[in-house]
Amino acid sequence: MMRRKNDNKRYFTRMGTRKKVHAFVRVKPTDDFAHEMIKYGDDNKSIDIHIKKDLQKGVVNNKQTDWSFKLDGVLHNASQDLVYETVAKDVVAQALDGYNGTIMCYGQTGAGKTYTMTGTTENYKHRGILPRALQQVFRMIEERPTHAITVRVSYLEIYNESLFDLLSTLPCVGPSVTPMTIVENPQGVFIKGLSVHLTSQEEDAFSLLFEGETNRIIASHTMNKNSSRSHCIFTIYVEAHSRTLSDEKYITSKINLVDLAGSERLKKSGSEGRVLKEATYINKSLSFLEQAIIALGDQKRDHIPFRQCKLTHALKDSLGGNCNMVLLTNIYGEASQLEETLSSLRFASRMKLVTTEPAINEKYDAERMVKNLEKELALLKQELAIHDSLANRTLVNYDPMDEIQIAEINSQVRRYLEGTLDEIDIINLRQIQEVFNQFRVVLSQQEQEVELTLRRKYTLIDKNDFAAISAVQKAGLMDVDGHLVGEPDGQGFGLGVTPFSAKPGKKAKSKKMFKEQLRPSTPPPKPVAFEDFKNERGSEINRIFKENKSILNERRKRASETTQRINAIKREMDVTKEALNFQKSLREKQGEYENKGLMIIDEEEFLLILKLKDLKKQYRTEYQDLRDLKAEIQYCQHLVDQCRHRLLMEFDIWYNESFFIPEDIQVSLKPGSSIRPGMVPISRIMSLHNYLKTMMGFQQAHRK
Ligand code: ADP
Ligand code: MG
Repeated sequence: MMRRKNDNKRYFTRMGTRKKVHAFVRVKPTDDFAHEMIKYGDDNKSIDIHIKKDLQKGVVNNKQTDWSFKLDGVLHNASQDLVYETVAKDVVAQALDGYNGTIMCYGQTGAGKTYTMTGTTENYKHRGILPRALQQVFRMIEERPTHAITVRVSYLEIYNESLFDLLSTLPCVGPSVTPMTIVENPQGVFIKGLSVHLTSQEEDAFSLLFEGETNRIIASHTMNKNSSRSHCIFTIYVEAHSRTLSDEKYITSKINLVDLAGSERLKKSGSEGRVLKEATYINKSLSFLEQAIIALGDQKRDHIPFRQCKLTHALKDSLGGNCNMVLLTNIYGEASQLEETLSSLRFASRMKLVTTEPAINEKYDAERMVKNLEKELALLKQELAIHDSLANRTLVNYDPMDEIQIAEINSQVRRYLEGTLDEIDIINLRQIQEVFNQFRVVLSQQEQEVELTLRRKYTLIDKNDFAAISAVQKAGLMDVDGHLVGEPDGQGFGLGVTPFSAKPGKKAKSKKMFKEQLRPSTPPPKPVAFEDFKNERGSEINRIFKENKSILNERRKRASETTQRINAIKREMDVTKEALNFQKSLREKQGEYENKGLMIIDEEEFLLILKLKDLKKQYRTEYQDLRDLKAEIQYCQHLVDQCRHRLLMEFDIWYNESFFIPEDIQVSLKPGSSIRPGMVPISRIMSLHNYLKTMMGFQQAHRK
């Protein structure tokens, strides 16, 4: 099965041009040419057939009397030379560039197929397409000294659906035990068991051709074969490797020259025995060929029935597809043969509908490719060695790293992260990649360590674990945004610590008590209430808190930048000092100059001294700045702490007042009092409340 749609796509990207099959007609010379019935178009590219009325009854059982066939050329009285020029020359030429080609002769027995394909052996002038094609191939090879081109040939005959090797009689071919089979592989179709012969020159090729032709004739006698009843496929295989480029790409192609069996229809009477059998096979294989060609011509068809017979199966990758394809139809010019002539012309015009997409067969020589890559690798290594010796890096190794080297890089990365190593020297790409690798290793180890430490100290909650989060929120330990609230150091202002009871066990009980006794509604959870507080009563203090915090952050950032600058200056000072020491040692070695008690130093040393002085000055100013900043940071930190303290305190007061302290107590404490009820611990307030109640009861009793 052939997926033509996919194939089309592939060929389009490679070549992009569709080509029609070329169909030519060759008329066998005759003195009795039917001028009135067979007419050629002016451009010699069409044949019109006209059948006279009286003939119509006898010869053609059809009402139609006129037919017109469009072709690529009509060869009338054409020499073998002209036929070759017209039909085969381009196909053969393109085969040397990597395009497969197929030339087929079709027609009834005696119409000139074998004459066209092979020609006569006794007259050089009348030689056919086969010897001429071999000649052209070898001529072209001579013209291409830049390529090592090999030529191989094979000669296959298909007779009554059996395969015969017409070159099997050659001494180099041993007697074959198993019958030949048609095999398909991704490279195409080939005949297993068919001998393929390497030919290095024209003469060898000709002798092979004659060998085949003779075998064909002998077989027709000894095996009682009728040569016009068999299909013969002569194949020239070309393989071209560039000699100049050490290119691993090479091209292959094959030229199939097909001499088909006679296409005449089985006569209604007289055929029996061997003749009938032959005729049946031929009719079958030619009609399968026709079916395959019709399918190839139909763009909508996906499946081409190639495997129905040996002929189409053997030619599977030579019909349509990526080949240059030519059909030459041999016809008689006599009126008596008009029925078969019409049938042959119909076949030709169907063939013209088939399109192919010729494409170069490029292959890769794996061995050559490996050799080329090895060569290139060796060259690059040499190049690297030169580079390294120029850059004084003679010890650099480019081989893969061993465990010890990797461990060393791991240790470098660790030291770098700790700050004990300032930089990691770059050696080569492999080492850089390993450094990155080790960064990843160290990082993931550190992540695990951090998590472990945190888990030892804290209970971590997964942000996606909603059950755990809501439990924590209920307990008042987390605000709605998922931030843990309050300070764990138990200063007494943490939001997570209820002001009336530090113990969570008691909390639930107390809450329940207040709920029943003091307020009908449930107080909101502290985190929610805190958000409300920050937006309402506590908005001003929250604003100041935030402002201070951002000032603090900004100062911290500045301090860190200043520290970095100081470090940079420090490093530069060190470098300058070292350079100065070097200059000094040079001066001492070369002998010193003194002038009136003053040391004479050169310009370089002088400039270095100036630079060091300047750096010192910079260092001092930056250091002073840093000290000032640090003081400011301390102060700001203090402010921020205070603000937080105040914010939390105000919230607690507000929370108590809003949700826990009975309104009557708030009212009774308000007038003229500086005490804010929320400030008083709940337990006190409650006892105060009870006290007031008793007092009131007492007073009332007294009034009575
Ligand atoms: P086919 O192979 O189609 O059965 P052949 O090629 O054997 O037919 O031709 C039958 C005879 O006609 C042969 O003797 C051949 O030499 C001769 N013949 C065919 N075509 C030509 C031609 N164009 N010029 C001269 N003789 C020809
Ligand atoms: Mg023949």
